Amino acid sequence: MDNLVKGWEVIIGLEVHAQIATKSKLFSSSPTEYGADPNSQVSFYDAAMPGMLPVLNENAVDQAIKSGFGINGTINKISRFDRKNYFYPDLPSGYQISQLYHPIVTDGHIDIELQDGSVKTIHVERIHIEQDAGKSIHDLSPEFSYVDLNRAGVPLMEIVSKPDMRSPFEAMQYVRKLRMILRYVGSCDCNMERGNLRVDANISIRKPGELLGNRAEIKNINSIRFLGQALDYEIERQIMLKENGEEVCQETRLFDSSLGETRSMRSKEDAADYRYFPDPDLKPVVLSDERIARLRAEMPELPDEKHARFVAEYGISDADANVLIEDKETAAYFERAVAASKFKPASAKLIANWMISELFAVLNKEGKTIETVGFPIEYMAELVDLILDKTISGKIAKTVFAEMAQSGSAPAKIVKDLGLVQIQDEGAIRKVIDEVIAANPAQVAQYKAGKVQLFGFFVGQSMKAMQGKGNPEMINKILRETLG
Ligand code: MN
Repeated sequence: MDNLVKGWEVIIGLEVHAQIATKSKLFSSSPTEYGADPNSQVSFYDAAMPGMLPVLNENAVDQAIKSGFGINGTINKISRFDRKNYFYPDLPSGYQISQLYHPIVTDGHIDIELQDGSVKTIHVERIHIEQDAGKSIHDLSPEFSYVDLNRAGVPLMEIVSKPDMRSPFEAMQYVRKLRMILRYVGSCDCNMERGNLRVDANISIRKPGELLGNRAEIKNINSIRFLGQALDYEIERQIMLKENGEEVCQETRLFDSSLGETRSMRSKEDAADYRYFPDPDLKPVVLSDERIARLRAEMPELPDEKHARFVAEYGISDADANVLIEDKETAAYFERAVAASKFKPASAKLIANWMISELFAVLNKEGKTIETVGFPIEYMAELVDLILDKTISGKIAKTVFAEMAQSGSAPAKIVKDLGLVQIQDEGAIRKVIDEVIAANPAQVAQYKAGKVQLFGFFVGQSMKAMQGKGNPEMINKILRETLG
């Protein structure tokens, strides 16, 4: 069996909280905008004033349904809200409204790619809609704790996987893929630094064939790297316990990213501890066939579909397609550049290469995105066309690209202004090569005596004499003829 760690099988299931991209909260009209002054986005309802009633944000429901399509799930025509009762200072009502018994989406799945390129299906048990809580702030004062209710009532999707993952890598791939899907759907911006996508990881270990052991839940992990670190740490901790004959406690733990370790927070509650019951202020959510069909029709092309199409339609490699579909904007840029090329679709592969190497390097270096880069998409196509119609060599194209990124000028203009047109005149190339051979009699003698690796020396000297503008294939061909 694969993936065993010191003879132990690792079982991981993830609960992801994704903030639904809506302007207002789940049950009130307060804004959800990030970064506002504390408690400036709190209605009477959010503060749980007596007599205030919830009004369901239908757009949040629509977004959850589309996310359900995104994970190939079943959309349930009837779902219902329950109250999950617990006390916490940042939860003024004393309960969170969630969907325990009748979630809006069930039985989905997501395919992830493993290290060896194979595909594994991870099942998604459910997506339910719920409210976020407020935020307690303990580090502003030595005497007091503060509460900010701006987040209270913000709509979340809780996306619960089956315990299908067998390594930290699989868990990280799952979150990457889920994030990509939600961004394509547009239902969550998935900004993990802002807490818009948080991961709770359930992890246990067992000997192969044994029943599931006690699990630890690591709460609120806000980066994919931390998820990997927290799981790595937890695997070691649980193996150490079991191999010392101790049991793993069923508990909730926190990951401390500065120490790289998890620590106990509280023992894990069961559903019964929360005294769930249907919220009497909210009707069940009943979806019409028309609404479901309309939302289905609004679905964008999803990452897996786009990947398959890019490989089939443009003949690019799996690996290149993976990079280009990472986000919708990059994929759209690629398609628009290909569309602008005179040599489409044959130019697609070269456009993909230039984007992945040169363009991404410039974006990284200048801290820009594909939307803010300083030249139009058509120039990317023009540059590749200049290579394909043999006006410039690939080597010279790098100079042109650097100049284009710097000045924003069109590639053809740069080639003309800097005199970079490729030398393809056979007579001119032959003349230069004759001069190179005449100037290096010692090397010619060595080459003829069998030191064939000197061929590269002659290519380099000829190219240098033509300031890098000679057609490389022609130089090679003529040199071979001349040197014999
Ligand atoms: Mn939750």
